[in-house]
Amino acid sequence: MHAQRRRNGEVRLKPDTTRKADTTRWLKLAALVFGMFALSCSGSGGLGSVGCSFGLGSEAPGSGDALVFRNFTLIDGGDHAPVPNAAMVVEKGRVSWVGPAADLKEPSGATTTDLKGAFVIPGLMNLHAHLGNTVDLVQDSKFHTRASIEKDLKTYASYGVTTVLSMGTDQDTIFPVRNEQRAAFASESPAASRPPMARVYTTGQGLMFKGGYGGLAGVNQPVASPEQAAAAVNAQLDKGVDFIKLWLDDELGTMPKMPAEIASAIIETAHKRNARVLGHIFYLEDAKFLAGQGIDGFVHSVRDQPIDQALIDSMEQHGTWQTAATLSREASMFAYGSTPPFANDPFFTRGVSAKTLELIKSPERQKTIASNPNFKKYPAFYETGKANFKRLVDAGIPFALGTDAGPPGRFPGYFEHWELQLMVEAGLTPAQAIDAATRRAAMFLGAEDLGTLEPTKWADFVVLDANPLMDIKNSRKIRAVYIAGSEVPSINQGGGS
Ligand SMILES: [Zn+2]
Repeated sequence: MHAQRRRNGEVRLKPDTTRKADTTRWLKLAALVFGMFALSCSGSGGLGSVGCSFGLGSEAPGSGDALVFRNFTLIDGGDHAPVPNAAMVVEKGRVSWVGPAADLKEPSGATTTDLKGAFVIPGLMNLHAHLGNTVDLVQDSKFHTRASIEKDLKTYASYGVTTVLSMGTDQDTIFPVRNEQRAAFASESPAASRPPMARVYTTGQGLMFKGGYGGLAGVNQPVASPEQAAAAVNAQLDKGVDFIKLWLDDELGTMPKMPAEIASAIIETAHKRNARVLGHIFYLEDAKFLAGQGIDGFVHSVRDQPIDQALIDSMEQHGTWQTAATLSREASMFAYGSTPPFANDPFFTRGVSAKTLELIKSPERQKTIASNPNFKKYPAFYETGKANFKRLVDAGIPFALGTDAGPPGRFPGYFEHWELQLMVEAGLTPAQAIDAATRRAAMFLGAEDLGTLEPTKWADFVVLDANPLMDIKNSRKIRAVYIAGSEVPSINQGGGS
């Protein structure tokens, strides 16, 4: 089933940088999954014409905590047509069967939920987040605690964002949070003990140049030489980061840029240990340089000028991902010079504090923001980033969704839905935007049991009251959110901050 669904050329991880550790992990998982479950499928083609199931060893289906969901339209990633009147069986937190309701063989003793004509998408994934550093509109490393990280992860979950990749401003507190939630999800624990929050991946402390742009004061240790950079990469990998992050930027000419030999040393050191590297970029010339050095993904669009065929060719040749376009970040850079329309949208206000709302609406604060000498440049950066993203998508460069939410004014949860909307405004179809946020994001992470709703995958999904393919803003009509088959509090029902 998996091989059938994975089309050639879509997994663009380079052979030389495929993580050995990941491979070992997945081999173990595959052995676990296939040792425990016997997968059986019938029919051929998309989900519309095939039913698949996996049985729990020799036990009869329904002997666990089986859940049946029915009466919904399934909108899964890739080129699968939506499946109207679908049904799904979830056992031990994973999808065990999904297909047309007419083919459903309900496990005995299952708990059935009638979704009453809803639309179901896989849980959304944000591949550019910053966790736990911001309270109201102030960012400070002192705020980063287990509680603040988990608060953000719960806010994400309430908005249907069930997986996030944190991008380089984490303190070591992140590792026990991540490791404990992975252990809890991996165990055969009862549903009630599964963490009611988004799954987290981390790049730990990203690499920044001494005196240069990036990072967060008190967290990131700047590097000044290739040797220091290599040592810092090794230290991060020893801590167990999922990816390495670097910043290559000069903040509109106001700061020194990381020298080429340091950026090269970071990529080379990480690749030697089969770890992948993600780069913050702004300028086309830096994107070209990093792509040529074999960087694995960009976590922003190129924003200084239109990209050219040379960059596209290099990304194609090196298998570079546009991992995150952060269009909502770019749009937010000029959103707070006046009161943004979303300040009065309950879908936004439910997720933020009263203090935050008050600050966003404060005329004094708006005046300060609008008087920033760079303020007038931001709309053009946004438009350029948006057009560049569309060009890469059209050229067949792999892409996912990321927002850069977390710092002040960039709100976890709300921003991912805004990002979906802006991706559609950039010219993607709603199906492409949802695919970026689900199946493709999981592909980038190497998370083989996330991203789609197929047998053996985790039952992470969002129940919507309206069809997001008709209007991407319907992604906000969240009725319920499930992680590993367990419902978590959702924003429209009092979840969030
Ligand atoms: Zn960022």
